[in-house]
Amino acid sequence: MERIDTAVVGAGVVGLAIARALAGAGQEVVVLESEDAFGTGISARNSEVIHAGIYYPTGSLRAALCVRGKQLLYDFCERHGVAHRRCAKLIVATEPGELPVLARLQQQAAANGVHDLQPLSAAEARALEPALQCQGALLSPSTGIIDSHGLMLALLGEAESHGAMLALRSPVRGGRVTAEGIVLEVGGEVASTLCARRVVNAAGLGAPALAAALQGLAAQQVPRLHLSKGCYFTLPGKAPFSRLVYPAPGEAGHLGVHLTLDLGGQARFGPSFRWVDSIDYQVDMAEAEAFYAEVRRYWPGLADGALQPGYAGMRPKISGPGQPQADFRIDGPAVHGVPGLVNLFGIESPGLTASLAIAERVASLLA
Ligand SMILES: Cc1cc2nc3c(=O)[nH]c(=O)nc-3n(C[C@H](O)[C@H](O)[C@H](O)COP(=O)(O)OP(=O)(O)OC[C@H]3O[C@@H](n4cnc5c(N)ncnc54)[C@H](O)[C@@H]3O)c2cc1C
Repeated sequence: MERIDTAVVGAGVVGLAIARALAGAGQEVVVLESEDAFGTGISARNSEVIHAGIYYPTGSLRAALCVRGKQLLYDFCERHGVAHRRCAKLIVATEPGELPVLARLQQQAAANGVHDLQPLSAAEARALEPALQCQGALLSPSTGIIDSHGLMLALLGEAESHGAMLALRSPVRGGRVTAEGIVLEVGGEVASTLCARRVVNAAGLGAPALAAALQGLAAQQVPRLHLSKGCYFTLPGKAPFSRLVYPAPGEAGHLGVHLTLDLGGQARFGPSFRWVDSIDYQVDMAEAEAFYAEVRRYWPGLADGALQPGYAGMRPKISGPGQPQADFRIDGPAVHGVPGLVNLFGIESPGLTASLAIAERVASLLA
Protein backbone atom coordinates (compact mmCIF):
# COMPACT_ATOMS: atom_id res chain seq x y z
CA MET A 1 0.00 0.00 0.00
CA GLU A 2 1.33 3.43 -0.96
CA ARG A 3 1.85 5.85 1.94
CA ILE A 4 1.50 9.58 1.47
CA ASP A 5 1.50 12.63 3.65
CA THR A 6 -1.71 14.36 2.53
CA ALA A 7 -4.58 13.45 0.22
CA VAL A 8 -6.99 16.16 -0.92
CA VAL A 9 -10.14 14.65 -2.41
CA GLY A 10 -11.66 16.89 -5.08
CA ALA A 11 -10.02 19.17 -7.63
CA GLY A 12 -12.50 22.02 -7.58
CA VAL A 13 -11.50 25.53 -6.61
CA VAL A 14 -11.59 24.66 -2.91
CA GLY A 15 -9.54 21.46 -3.16
CA LEU A 16 -6.98 23.14 -5.43
CA ALA A 17 -6.64 26.14 -3.08
CA ILE A 18 -6.12 23.72 -0.19
CA ALA A 19 -3.57 21.68 -2.16
CA ARG A 20 -1.64 24.87 -2.95
CA ALA A 21 -1.64 25.96 0.71
CA LEU A 22 -0.59 22.55 2.08
CA ALA A 23 2.05 21.92 -0.60
CA GLY A 24 3.35 25.45 -0.03
CA ALA A 25 3.68 24.58 3.66
CA GLY A 26 5.94 21.66 2.72
CA GLN A 27 3.49 18.74 2.75
CA GLU A 28 3.57 16.02 0.12
CA VAL A 29 0.12 16.40 -1.46
CA VAL A 30 -1.84 14.19 -3.85
CA VAL A 31 -5.13 15.55 -5.19
CA LEU A 32 -7.56 12.76 -6.06
CA GLU A 33 -10.23 13.73 -8.59
CA SER A 34 -12.87 11.37 -9.94
CA GLU A 35 -13.36 13.13 -13.29
CA ASP A 36 -10.90 13.32 -16.19
CA ALA A 37 -10.26 17.05 -15.70
CA PHE A 38 -10.07 19.42 -12.75
CA GLY A 39 -12.80 21.96 -12.02
CA THR A 40 -15.77 20.34 -13.76
CA GLY A 41 -18.08 20.33 -10.70
CA ILE A 42 -19.69 23.22 -8.84
CA SER A 43 -16.66 25.37 -9.66
CA ALA A 44 -17.52 25.23 -13.38
CA ARG A 45 -21.18 26.25 -12.96
CA ASN A 46 -21.50 29.37 -10.88
CA SER A 47 -21.79 33.15 -11.29
CA GLU A 48 -18.02 33.83 -11.09
CA VAL A 49 -18.65 36.79 -8.81
CA ILE A 50 -16.08 37.95 -6.28
CA HIS A 51 -18.49 38.73 -3.48
CA ALA A 52 -17.95 41.59 -1.05
CA GLY A 53 -19.32 39.78 2.04
CA ILE A 54 -22.49 41.83 2.55
CA TYR A 55 -25.38 39.50 3.30
CA TYR A 56 -24.03 36.73 5.54
CA PRO A 57 -24.74 36.64 9.27
CA THR A 58 -21.98 38.37 11.22
CA GLY A 59 -19.70 35.87 12.90
CA SER A 60 -20.51 33.08 10.41
CA LEU A 61 -17.75 31.34 8.49
CA ARG A 62 -19.38 32.52 5.27
CA ALA A 63 -19.03 36.16 6.35
CA ALA A 64 -15.52 35.92 7.76
CA LEU A 65 -14.06 33.76 4.98
CA CYS A 66 -15.72 35.79 2.22
CA VAL A 67 -14.29 39.08 3.47
CA ARG A 68 -10.83 37.61 4.04
CA GLY A 69 -11.01 35.52 0.85
CA LYS A 70 -11.95 38.49 -1.33
CA GLN A 71 -8.78 40.32 -0.32
CA LEU A 72 -6.61 37.23 -0.81
CA LEU A 73 -8.27 36.55 -4.16
CA TYR A 74 -7.71 40.03 -5.61
CA ASP A 75 -4.05 39.86 -4.50
CA PHE A 76 -3.65 36.37 -5.99
CA CYS A 77 -5.25 37.41 -9.29
CA GLU A 78 -2.98 40.42 -9.60
CA ARG A 79 0.18 38.43 -8.82
CA HIS A 80 -0.69 35.50 -11.09
CA GLY A 81 -2.35 37.31 -13.97
CA VAL A 82 -5.75 35.66 -13.43
CA ALA A 83 -8.37 37.54 -15.45
CA HIS A 84 -10.76 39.48 -13.23
CA ARG A 85 -12.48 42.85 -13.07
CA ARG A 86 -13.50 44.95 -10.06
CA CYS A 87 -16.69 45.92 -11.88
CA ALA A 88 -18.78 46.79 -8.74
CA LYS A 89 -22.39 45.95 -8.09
CA LEU A 90 -25.61 47.83 -7.44
CA ILE A 91 -28.21 46.49 -5.02
CA VAL A 92 -31.42 48.21 -5.98
CA ALA A 93 -34.70 49.09 -4.25
CA THR A 94 -37.39 49.00 -6.92
CA GLU A 95 -40.12 50.23 -4.56
CA PRO A 96 -39.94 52.82 -1.76
CA GLY A 97 -40.77 50.04 0.72
CA GLU A 98 -37.44 48.38 -0.09
CA LEU A 99 -35.29 51.38 0.85
CA PRO A 100 -35.07 50.30 4.53
CA VAL A 101 -33.76 46.91 3.33
CA LEU A 102 -30.80 48.71 1.73
CA ALA A 103 -30.12 50.60 4.96
CA ARG A 104 -30.16 47.33 6.91
CA LEU A 105 -27.82 45.73 4.38
CA GLN A 106 -25.34 48.56 4.78
CA GLN A 107 -25.32 47.98 8.56
CA GLN A 108 -24.99 44.23 8.07
CA ALA A 109 -22.07 44.74 5.71
CA ALA A 110 -20.31 47.09 8.14
CA ALA A 111 -20.73 44.54 10.94
CA ASN A 112 -19.03 42.03 8.61
CA GLY A 113 -16.12 44.42 8.01
CA VAL A 114 -17.33 45.71 4.63
CA HIS A 115 -17.19 49.47 5.02
CA ASP A 116 -17.14 50.68 1.42
CA LEU A 117 -20.86 50.52 0.50
CA GLN A 118 -22.24 53.80 -0.84
CA PRO A 119 -25.96 54.65 -0.73
CA LEU A 120 -27.14 56.25 -3.98
CA SER A 121 -30.31 58.16 -4.85
CA ALA A 122 -32.31 56.98 -7.86
CA ALA A 123 -30.78 59.79 -9.95
CA GLU A 124 -27.22 58.90 -8.87
CA ALA A 125 -27.81 55.25 -9.69
CA ARG A 126 -29.25 56.15 -13.12
CA ALA A 127 -26.27 58.39 -13.80
CA LEU A 128 -24.11 55.26 -13.48
CA GLU A 129 -26.53 52.90 -15.25
CA PRO A 130 -29.01 54.75 -17.50
CA ALA A 131 -31.10 51.62 -18.21
CA LEU A 132 -31.84 51.08 -14.51
CA GLN A 133 -35.23 51.64 -12.89
CA CYS A 134 -34.99 52.07 -9.10
CA GLN A 135 -35.93 54.17 -6.08
CA GLY A 136 -32.41 54.07 -4.67
CA ALA A 137 -29.41 51.76 -4.58
CA LEU A 138 -26.32 50.65 -2.71
CA LEU A 139 -23.05 50.61 -4.63
CA SER A 140 -20.56 47.88 -3.67
CA PRO A 141 -17.25 48.92 -5.25
CA SER A 142 -15.31 45.84 -4.09
CA THR A 143 -17.58 43.31 -5.87
CA GLY A 144 -15.98 41.89 -8.99
CA ILE A 145 -15.95 39.06 -11.51
CA ILE A 146 -13.31 36.42 -12.17
CA ASP A 147 -12.32 33.75 -14.65
CA SER A 148 -12.81 30.77 -12.33
CA HIS A 149 -11.09 28.31 -14.68
CA GLY A 150 -8.07 30.61 -14.94
CA LEU A 151 -8.01 30.78 -11.15
CA MET A 152 -8.03 26.99 -10.83
CA LEU A 153 -5.30 26.66 -13.43
CA ALA A 154 -3.11 29.11 -11.49
CA LEU A 155 -3.81 27.35 -8.17
CA LEU A 156 -2.95 23.98 -9.68
CA GLY A 157 0.22 25.41 -11.25
CA GLU A 158 1.40 26.76 -7.92
CA ALA A 159 0.50 23.58 -6.06
CA GLU A 160 2.43 21.54 -8.63
CA SER A 161 5.42 23.86 -8.40
CA HIS A 162 5.52 22.93 -4.69
CA GLY A 163 5.46 19.24 -5.61
CA ALA A 164 1.73 18.47 -5.42
CA MET A 165 0.38 15.84 -7.80
CA LEU A 166 -3.05 15.74 -9.43
CA ALA A 167 -4.46 12.25 -10.02
CA LEU A 168 -7.42 12.40 -12.43
CA ARG A 169 -9.93 9.55 -12.91
CA SER A 170 -9.32 8.64 -9.27
CA PRO A 171 -12.66 8.41 -7.50
CA VAL A 172 -12.30 7.78 -3.78
CA ARG A 173 -14.85 5.08 -2.99
CA GLY A 174 -14.40 5.05 0.78
CA GLY A 175 -11.86 4.27 3.45
CA ARG A 176 -11.14 3.55 7.08
CA VAL A 177 -9.45 5.22 9.96
CA THR A 178 -6.48 3.23 11.28
CA ALA A 179 -3.69 3.83 13.80
CA GLU A 180 -1.23 4.52 10.93
CA GLY A 181 -3.45 6.99 9.08
CA ILE A 182 -6.54 7.07 6.90
CA VAL A 183 -6.67 4.30 4.32
CA LEU A 184 -8.45 5.35 1.11
CA GLU A 185 -9.86 3.00 -1.51
CA VAL A 186 -9.37 4.65 -4.89
CA GLY A 187 -11.24 3.35 -7.95
CA GLY A 188 -10.63 4.15 -11.59
CA GLU A 189 -8.95 2.08 -14.31
CA VAL A 190 -6.41 0.70 -11.85
CA ALA A 191 -7.87 0.52 -8.36
CA SER A 192 -5.44 1.30 -5.57
CA THR A 193 -5.21 1.75 -1.83
CA LEU A 194 -3.46 4.70 -0.20
CA CYS A 195 -2.66 5.41 3.40
CA ALA A 196 -2.54 9.16 4.14
CA ARG A 197 -1.58 10.87 7.39
CA ARG A 198 -3.97 13.67 6.51
CA VAL A 199 -7.10 13.64 4.34
CA VAL A 200 -9.06 16.68 3.24
CA ASN A 201 -12.52 15.88 1.92
CA ALA A 202 -13.19 18.74 -0.52
CA ALA A 203 -15.46 16.66 -2.75
CA GLY A 204 -18.21 19.29 -3.10
CA LEU A 205 -21.48 17.55 -3.98
CA GLY A 206 -19.76 14.24 -3.16
CA ALA A 207 -18.44 15.27 0.27
CA PRO A 208 -21.24 13.90 2.47
CA ALA A 209 -21.24 10.55 0.57
CA LEU A 210 -17.48 10.25 0.90
CA ALA A 211 -17.59 11.05 4.63
CA ALA A 212 -20.35 8.45 5.08
CA ALA A 213 -18.08 5.87 3.41
CA LEU A 214 -15.23 6.46 5.89
CA GLN A 215 -15.28 3.74 8.55
CA GLY A 216 -14.27 5.20 11.88
CA LEU A 217 -16.01 8.55 11.35
CA ALA A 218 -19.19 8.64 13.43
CA ALA A 219 -22.35 8.73 11.31
CA GLN A 220 -23.69 11.77 13.19
CA GLN A 221 -20.73 13.78 11.85
CA VAL A 222 -22.11 13.52 8.31
CA PRO A 223 -24.83 15.98 7.27
CA ARG A 224 -27.51 15.13 4.76
CA LEU A 225 -27.01 16.64 1.30
CA HIS A 226 -29.90 18.71 -0.08
CA LEU A 227 -29.64 19.69 -3.72
CA SER A 228 -30.80 23.05 -5.00
CA LYS A 229 -30.65 23.74 -8.70
CA GLY A 230 -30.00 27.17 -10.17
CA CYS A 231 -30.59 27.97 -13.84
CA TYR A 232 -29.11 30.91 -15.74
CA PHE A 233 -30.47 32.67 -18.79
CA THR A 234 -28.29 34.74 -21.05
CA LEU A 235 -28.94 37.85 -23.05
CA PRO A 236 -27.52 37.96 -26.57
CA GLY A 237 -25.80 41.14 -27.70
CA LYS A 238 -24.38 43.99 -25.70
CA ALA A 239 -25.14 43.99 -21.96
CA PRO A 240 -27.40 46.87 -20.88
CA PHE A 241 -25.32 47.44 -17.70
CA SER A 242 -21.62 47.65 -16.88
CA ARG A 243 -22.06 46.77 -13.20
CA LEU A 244 -23.76 43.77 -11.62
CA VAL A 245 -27.36 44.47 -10.58
CA TYR A 246 -29.08 42.70 -7.67
CA PRO A 247 -32.59 43.40 -6.41
CA ALA A 248 -33.00 44.04 -2.68
CA PRO A 249 -33.16 40.58 -1.06
CA GLY A 250 -36.60 39.27 -0.13
CA GLU A 251 -37.86 37.94 3.18
CA ALA A 252 -36.34 34.47 2.87
CA GLY A 253 -32.92 35.94 2.17
CA HIS A 254 -32.98 34.67 -1.43
CA LEU A 255 -30.97 37.12 -3.51
CA GLY A 256 -33.58 37.38 -6.26
CA VAL A 257 -33.06 37.24 -10.01
CA HIS A 258 -29.88 39.22 -10.48
CA LEU A 259 -27.82 40.28 -13.45
CA THR A 260 -24.18 39.30 -13.61
CA LEU A 261 -21.64 39.80 -16.34
CA ASP A 262 -18.90 37.57 -17.63
CA LEU A 263 -15.45 38.87 -18.52
CA GLY A 264 -16.47 38.94 -22.18
CA GLY A 265 -19.17 41.46 -21.22
CA GLN A 266 -22.15 39.17 -21.77
CA ALA A 267 -25.06 39.52 -19.35
CA ARG A 268 -26.76 36.58 -17.68
CA PHE A 269 -29.66 36.42 -15.26
CA GLY A 270 -30.01 33.99 -12.41
CA PRO A 271 -29.46 31.62 -10.79
CA SER A 272 -32.98 30.48 -9.99
CA PHE A 273 -33.58 28.39 -6.89
CA ARG A 274 -35.35 25.02 -6.92
CA TRP A 275 -35.03 22.01 -4.62
CA VAL A 276 -34.31 18.85 -6.64
CA ASP A 277 -33.72 15.17 -5.87
CA SER A 278 -30.85 14.49 -8.23
CA ILE A 279 -28.08 16.22 -10.13
CA ASP A 280 -29.13 17.35 -13.60
CA TYR A 281 -27.79 20.24 -15.62
CA GLN A 282 -30.68 20.76 -18.05
CA VAL A 283 -31.79 24.39 -18.20
CA ASP A 284 -35.53 24.54 -17.55
CA MET A 285 -36.83 27.08 -20.09
CA ALA A 286 -40.15 27.18 -18.20
CA GLU A 287 -38.32 29.05 -15.43
CA ALA A 288 -37.49 31.89 -17.83
CA GLU A 289 -41.14 32.98 -17.78
CA ALA A 290 -40.94 34.02 -14.13
CA PHE A 291 -37.67 35.85 -14.83
CA TYR A 292 -39.25 38.41 -17.15
CA ALA A 293 -41.41 40.02 -14.46
CA GLU A 294 -38.60 39.90 -11.88
CA VAL A 295 -36.01 41.48 -14.17
CA ARG A 296 -38.39 44.17 -15.49
CA ARG A 297 -38.72 45.50 -11.93
CA TYR A 298 -35.23 46.97 -12.35
CA TRP A 299 -34.79 46.78 -16.12
CA PRO A 300 -38.05 47.60 -17.91
CA GLY A 301 -36.18 47.40 -21.22
CA LEU A 302 -36.05 43.58 -21.25
CA ALA A 303 -37.73 42.57 -24.52
CA ASP A 304 -40.14 39.64 -24.82
CA GLY A 305 -38.36 36.44 -25.83
CA ALA A 306 -34.89 37.89 -25.21
CA LEU A 307 -33.74 35.35 -22.62
CA GLN A 308 -31.79 32.38 -23.95
CA PRO A 309 -30.95 29.18 -22.06
CA GLY A 310 -27.57 29.50 -20.34
CA TYR A 311 -26.45 26.77 -17.96
CA ALA A 312 -27.39 25.27 -14.60
CA GLY A 313 -25.52 24.73 -11.35
CA MET A 314 -26.12 22.66 -8.22
CA ARG A 315 -25.83 24.02 -4.69
CA PRO A 316 -24.39 21.47 -2.21
CA LYS A 317 -26.74 22.46 0.58
CA ILE A 318 -26.71 20.94 4.05
CA SER A 319 -29.91 22.66 5.17
CA GLY A 320 -33.16 21.64 3.55
CA PRO A 321 -36.47 23.28 2.66
CA GLY A 322 -37.83 25.37 5.54
CA GLN A 323 -34.61 25.18 7.56
CA PRO A 324 -32.42 28.19 8.25
CA GLN A 325 -29.51 28.54 5.82
CA ALA A 326 -26.59 26.50 7.15
CA ASP A 327 -23.12 27.96 7.47
CA PHE A 328 -20.07 26.40 5.81
CA ARG A 329 -18.83 23.40 7.77
CA ILE A 330 -15.08 22.90 7.97
CA ASP A 331 -14.89 20.03 10.42
CA GLY A 332 -11.45 19.22 11.78
CA PRO A 333 -10.30 16.71 14.41
CA ALA A 334 -11.61 18.88 17.28
CA VAL A 335 -15.14 18.43 15.86
CA HIS A 336 -15.21 14.75 14.85
CA GLY A 337 -12.26 13.25 16.75
CA VAL A 338 -10.45 11.68 13.77
CA PRO A 339 -6.80 12.82 13.68
CA GLY A 340 -5.67 14.24 10.34
CA LEU A 341 -9.15 14.48 8.77
CA VAL A 342 -10.92 17.65 7.59
CA ASN A 343 -14.39 17.44 6.02
CA LEU A 344 -15.82 20.39 4.11
CA PHE A 345 -19.60 20.42 3.85
CA GLY A 346 -22.06 22.91 2.39
CA ILE A 347 -19.48 24.99 0.53
CA GLU A 348 -21.93 26.86 -1.65
CA SER A 349 -21.74 30.57 -2.43
CA PRO A 350 -19.47 32.42 -1.60
CA GLY A 351 -17.11 29.43 -1.76
CA LEU A 352 -15.30 30.64 -4.88
CA THR A 353 -14.58 34.03 -3.30
CA ALA A 354 -13.66 32.39 0.02
CA SER A 355 -11.51 29.59 -1.46
CA LEU A 356 -8.11 30.97 -0.40
CA ALA A 357 -9.36 31.81 3.08
CA ILE A 358 -10.92 28.33 3.39
CA ALA A 359 -7.51 26.92 2.47
CA GLU A 360 -5.82 28.99 5.19
CA ARG A 361 -8.30 27.65 7.71
CA VAL A 362 -7.83 24.02 6.66
CA ALA A 363 -4.06 24.46 6.83
CA SER A 364 -4.33 25.79 10.38
CA LEU A 365 -6.59 22.88 11.43
CA LEU A 366 -3.98 20.41 10.12
CA ALA A 367 -0.88 22.26 11.34
C1 LIG B 1 -25.36 28.28 -8.90
C2 LIG B 1 -24.16 28.68 -8.09
C3 LIG B 1 -23.64 29.97 -8.18
C4 LIG B 1 -22.53 30.33 -7.43
N1 LIG B 1 -21.99 31.57 -7.59
C5 LIG B 1 -20.90 31.91 -6.87
C6 LIG B 1 -20.31 33.19 -7.04
O1 LIG B 1 -20.71 33.98 -7.89
N2 LIG B 1 -19.25 33.53 -6.24
C7 LIG B 1 -18.78 32.68 -5.28
O2 LIG B 1 -17.88 33.08 -4.55
N3 LIG B 1 -19.29 31.43 -5.16
C8 LIG B 1 -20.32 31.03 -5.93
N4 LIG B 1 -20.83 29.79 -5.82
C9 LIG B 1 -20.17 28.84 -4.91
C10 LIG B 1 -18.93 28.21 -5.54
O3 LIG B 1 -19.13 27.92 -6.90
C11 LIG B 1 -18.59 26.93 -4.76
O4 LIG B 1 -18.56 27.21 -3.38
C12 LIG B 1 -17.28 26.32 -5.16
O5 LIG B 1 -17.16 26.23 -6.56
C13 LIG B 1 -17.16 24.94 -4.54
O6 LIG B 1 -15.94 24.38 -4.94
P1 LIG B 1 -15.56 22.93 -4.46
O7 LIG B 1 -14.14 22.74 -4.83
O8 LIG B 1 -15.94 22.76 -3.02
O9 LIG B 1 -16.53 21.94 -5.25
P2 LIG B 1 -16.39 21.37 -6.75
O10 LIG B 1 -15.97 22.38 -7.69
O11 LIG B 1 -17.65 20.62 -7.05
O12 LIG B 1 -15.19 20.34 -6.61
C14 LIG B 1 -15.36 19.07 -5.99
C15 LIG B 1 -14.65 18.05 -6.85
O13 LIG B 1 -14.67 16.81 -6.15
C16 LIG B 1 -14.81 15.77 -7.12
N5 LIG B 1 -15.31 14.60 -6.40
C17 LIG B 1 -16.53 14.41 -5.84
N6 LIG B 1 -16.57 13.23 -5.21
C18 LIG B 1 -15.34 12.66 -5.36
C19 LIG B 1 -14.77 11.43 -4.91
N7 LIG B 1 -15.47 10.55 -4.16
N8 LIG B 1 -13.49 11.16 -5.26
C20 LIG B 1 -12.76 12.03 -5.99
N9 LIG B 1 -13.26 13.22 -6.44
C21 LIG B 1 -14.53 13.53 -6.11
C22 LIG B 1 -15.78 16.36 -8.14
O14 LIG B 1 -15.64 15.71 -9.38
C23 LIG B 1 -15.32 17.82 -8.18
O15 LIG B 1 -14.37 18.05 -9.21
C24 LIG B 1 -21.93 29.39 -6.55
C25 LIG B 1 -22.45 28.09 -6.47
C26 LIG B 1 -23.55 27.73 -7.24
C27 LIG B 1 -24.07 26.34 -7.15
